[in-house]
Amino acid sequence: MARVGFIGLGNMGGGMAANLAKAGHDVRAFDLSADALERAKAAGCLPVESAAAAAEGAEAVITMLPAGKHVEQVYEDSVFGAADTGAILIDCSTIDVATARRVADAAQAKGLAAVDAPVSGGIAAAAGGTLTFMVGGDAAAFERAEVFLSAMGKAVIHAGGNGAGQASKICNNMLLGATMVATCEALLLAQKLGLDPQTFYDIASVSSGACWSLNTYAPLPGMGPQTPADNGYQGGFAAGLMLKDLKLAMEAAESTHSETPMGARAAELYTKFADAGNAGVDFSGIIKMLGAGKV
Ligand code: NAD
Repeated sequence: MARVGFIGLGNMGGGMAANLAKAGHDVRAFDLSADALERAKAAGCLPVESAAAAAEGAEAVITMLPAGKHVEQVYEDSVFGAADTGAILIDCSTIDVATARRVADAAQAKGLAAVDAPVSGGIAAAAGGTLTFMVGGDAAAFERAEVFLSAMGKAVIHAGGNGAGQASKICNNMLLGATMVATCEALLLAQKLGLDPQTFYDIASVSSGACWSLNTYAPLPGMGPQTPADNGYQGGFAAGLMLKDLKLAMEAAESTHSETPMGARAAELYTKFADAGNAGVDFSGIIKMLGAGKV
């Protein structure tokens, strides 16, 4: 088993580092938060005093940080100077494609391999080791990263060259944001037209309107499998995180001169929802704002 440096032990990284330790890896863990370090210790990781100490002597250095600026700063200030030549850097954070490509180029210029490997699945999947990883990097780097990622997830998919993992993630989540809004408005219109929402679900979920937001993650309680709607819209995927991903998608659309009218509208609506104090509410809770006519 290998020595792994793990930097960023928050809601997601804490569970991921624990799964690497459970798989028998020697995990040197670092976070700015003392509480996070304590939790990592209890989960079988060895807490270290800096990001550089986590990277030193590691075969793989994994980061799970809030945004691109954190990844770039940790790489530039700590990892590049400390990691052994030939180590692989695996960034699992959700960040913008341009930064993902820039840090991978900088890593490769220093003799380090690098992949972007953002995840689908939330805190429960991180804890349970059932994440999906979408990986950007060359074939050799993907093969090396796969060994570590498969200890933390149920699926590891090679998306293409550096940045392709982040591109997959933001396009997927733009699609998810738009289909969730569309699912909510269809359910609300069906109700206003006098249809029982459950009857509409029974029809649309086996018709051409079927989609993950309706079939698997229905935004009304009592419909389909258990969802955050059955739990007062708590847990699940926070609207604030959906908004972060939609903003990344909008930046990417602007930089590539792409038309994304549905993504743009979803970004507007999630901005409004989050600004009204709902950033911590599950993203399907936007049905309450749409139902109240506050758009
Ligand atoms: P989080 O805020 O819970 O964790 C981030 C951690 O990074 C914190 O513990 C923080 O102390 C640490 N950190 C920040 N700067 C640091 C530095 N310079 N050095 C060391 N540690 C530092 O966030 P999270 O929910 O774990 O999300 C992490 C990433 O995963 C984000 O990019 C997010 O978009 C993505 N993501 C989250 C979810 C989710 O459901 N939470 C799902 C998919 C993807």
